[in-house]
Amino acid sequence: MAERPLILVCNDDGVRAPGIEALAAAMADLGDVVVVAPDREMSAMSHSISLHRPLRVEELRRNWYAVDGTPVDCAYLGLLHLAPRKPALVVSGVNAGYNLGTDVFYSGTVAAAVEGALRKIPAIAVSRERGYGDDYGPAAGLARALGAAVLQHGLPPGILLNVNVPSAKGPAGYRWTCLGERLYHDKVDVRSDPRGRKYFWIGGPEVGFGDVPGSDCLAVRDGVCSVTPLELDFTHQPLLAEVPGWRLDGFEHVR
Ligand code: MN
Repeated sequence: MAERPLILVCNDDGVRAPGIEALAAAMADLGDVVVVAPDREMSAMSHSISLHRPLRVEELRRNWYAVDGTPVDCAYLGLLHLAPRKPALVVSGVNAGYNLGTDVFYSGTVAAAVEGALRKIPAIAVSRERGYGDDYGPAAGLARALGAAVLQHGLPPGILLNVNVPSAKGPAGYRWTCLGERLYHDKVDVRSDPRGRKYFWIGGPEVGFGDVPGSDCLAVRDGVCSVTPLELDFTHQPLLAEVPGWRLDGFEHVR
């Protein structure tokens, strides 16, 4: 009998978050699950990696590990050390709160999945609308269905799926989407601490979605689950083709 696929499950909300419990339970239908997650909330850590300090790992129960590090530290340790064999799939989440549009640059949930994709392992990041209690069943169910499809069809190297699930009741529809535009109120709040020294809070509230046709933002606005294929190659080919026409004073253009 063929070996069951090994599935690495990570997140950025921490190893005790309800979203990762639901996700690990759902993925156990598809293969052997190893969970490696931060020992506390590590949201918005992006692709931060701890290269200059020791990392401690605690095995909470069999194949469940807590790491005092970032989501990417967890994915790295999971992929390269803690998993008993090479994972066939990395799944990250289920995050409490959407990761839409440019959120993917800040998200620890997405970054843990990216760590898999960087190693040419298929990966899925899953996020759910914030609020609505602790029911992560629908999001975990979509992750399981997509995971089964990805294990069957594969993904091109360096590609991952970013999934967002609205909490609206109704039929479980989904849509393939592009990244949209999630709008925040940019804000730097200047305050004073009890010693009279200034400190800053950055980041304001969400103020809505830009009207990008076919986007992840509009899918969840319509109450439909969103699945966006993401590419790690940031190269912009049209500009690359155009810029040889530029002249840079003092520098020779070498082909
Ligand atoms: Mn999070």
